[in-house]
Order: sequence, then structure tokens, then C-alpha cells
Amino acid sequence: MTIRAPDTVSRVDEIDSLVSGVRNGSRRHLAHAITLAESDRAEDRERACALIEQLWRSGVRESLRIGLTGPLGVGKSTFIEGFGRLLIRNGFKIAVLAVDPSSTAGGGSVLGDKTRMPSLAQDHRAFIRPSPAKRALGGVERRTHEAVFLCEQAGYDLVLVESTGVGQSETTVSKVTDLFVLMLHPGGGDELQGIKRGIMEEADLIVVNKADGDLKTAAQRTMADYAAALRLLRRRERDPSDFPKALVASAAEGVGFERVWTESSALADWRRANGHWHLNRAQQAKYWFAAEIQEAAIRQFRDTPHIADLLTRMEQRLERGEISGAAAASAVVAAYRESNGIP
Ligand code: GDP
Repeated sequence: MTIRAPDTVSRVDEIDSLVSGVRNGSRRHLAHAITLAESDRAEDRERACALIEQLWRSGVRESLRIGLTGPLGVGKSTFIEGFGRLLIRNGFKIAVLAVDPSSTAGGGSVLGDKTRMPSLAQDHRAFIRPSPAKRALGGVERRTHEAVFLCEQAGYDLVLVESTGVGQSETTVSKVTDLFVLMLHPGGGDELQGIKRGIMEEADLIVVNKADGDLKTAAQRTMADYAAALRLLRRRERDPSDFPKALVASAAEGVGFERVWTESSALADWRRANGHWHLNRAQQAKYWFAAEIQEAAIRQFRDTPHIADLLTRMEQRLERGEISGAAAASAVVAAYRESNGIP
């Protein structure tokens, strides 16, 4: 029998219990696991890696991951609440994660707030959680990526990743999901200008919400405009010819949930059958692998005192316009190589 040091024992036990808790679908364990994955502390990182590795080895479960992006106030939480209820009625378990640019530095969170989805939040078949967006160094939004994986391993059939479509958050969303839904207002020509063209190119479905009351006609017209704009985009090889699509919905009146679900699952099935699903996931895995390496390399620099000093000095020189970014980076890399005897 091997005798382990007490701290190792408790650490191993903690990971084991988290693994079985997550596997058994315990929301408490899942929340704990996500907190661990989001932590920047080195020892938490180690535990998070051990946890993820064990879950990997015990057989990976795959859910459908859908990204939902749209401006504030467009009706995302109203939509998720109704859409989520429809899926639960159909026997699915659903997790909602929010990539929230406003929740970074401990500030208030706009998205993922349970009070925005009161009935889903109370349902044991749903899991709702805000996820802080990227932090400063390296910019790896791996927290969201890992949170999605953890929800998947906890047995959620559908993982919805929500973002406001401001800044970088939508890029993160498309790197962690299988399908991407963009939600827009009726009559939103101006809105589209404010939204980066890139998001429109990522979208698999554009949903014009609030197609009710006085806004109904405007919503139909806007949908037709977007449909025309989508036809001008280059057709993607990974998609059937009628995708991406534009639809209307009224989250408030419960219209459009079924349609979004049938379109999403049809597209997912098509991509699975044609190999594009796995290709996309494999590309995402490579992206996160590269991002992890970048972050680890930068951490290594920061943890080496004289390299950390050099980094700070280079940053100051960059700010003063005394050196180019390329020269500053190669100076740091050269110093690091030299101090480690790398020829
Ligand atoms: P989010 O910021 O995108 O999550 O938007 P919310 O779901 O919080 O909705 C913002 C406002 O729009 C709220 O006052 C909702 O009641 C309203 N709203 C949401 N969906 C609809 C809809 O389909 N029709 C109408 N008329 N109002 C809606």
C-alpha cells in the first residue's frame, strides 16, 4: 500500500468527489468545478487540470452547444427562459452560461443573472451561470471553454452560451459552440452597423425578436432584409444551401422557440452526418491548445524575475513609442532563451 502525504490525500479525494459529483449531475459539484476552472491561482489550476483530465478519461459526453449573441435588451433572457422551458418539456436538460464582459473585475454582472430567468433558475433540469470574460494576460477565455465542457460532462443535453455581442465576447462564443444564433431588433439597420460584420458572418441563424404588436410588420421586413444580406455572404461548405437563415420570433409571446429548435437540430444533424461537426470541434480543440500554450509561456516569463522586469521595461518603452512591438517581443524571447541556455 502506498502512503500518501495528508494534503495529497485530501486533494485526490477532492478531485475524485468532484469527478463523481459532476458525472452524477450534481449542480453543486458542477458549480464548484467551474469555480475551480475559473480561478487564476496556480494550485487551483493544477486541480482543475486534474479534474478535466479525469473526466476526459472516464468517457466524454457530447451535448449540443449553441451560442446566442445580441445587443442588450433584445430579449435574450426572455428567449432563453421560454426556449429552455420548451426543451425541458421535451425531456432535455439545459445549461446556460454567460460570457459577460461586465463581470470581469469583480463588477456587477448583466448576463447570466438568475433573476433574469426566474423559472429556469428554479428548475432542477436547468443550470444557469455567469462566466467572467477574459482577463488581462494572454487573453485566454478558457474559463468559458472549460465551463462548457464541465456542463457537458454533467449530462446537460444542451449548453447555451450567451453574450452581448460587444467587444470580444462573441469571438469566444463562436470558439466554444457548435451553432451560433444572432438575435436582433426589428428595424435594426443601425444596429447592424454597430455590430461587427464578423458576427453576422458567424451566424447560423439570425432571429429578429419582438415580432409582435406594433413591431410585427417591421420585424418581418427586417427579417427579409437580413435574409437578403445573408444570401450575399459566401456559402459555407459546412452548411446546407439554405443556411444561414433569418427568422422572426416573439420571445414575449412564445413564438419562434420551436422553429429555432428544429432549425438548430436539423443543422446539427446535417453537420454531424457530413463530418463538419467533428471537424469544427477538432479545430476548436487546436485553438484552445494553442491558447493554453501561449498563456503558459507568458506565465513562465512573468514568473522569471529578470524576464518579468524586462517585460515591464519593454511595455514602458512601447508606451513611449521607443520600440516596435516586434522588436520588444524578440528582445524578451531572446533574453529568456539565453537565461535557459537555449541556443
Ligand atoms: P436581454 O438584455 O437581451 O436579455 O433582454 P431581455 O430578455 O431582458 O428583454 C428586454 C426587454 O424586452 C424586456 O422588457 C422584455 O420584456 C422585452 N422583450 C423581450 N422579448 C420580447 C418580445 O418578444 N416582444 C416584446 N414586445 N418585448 C420583448
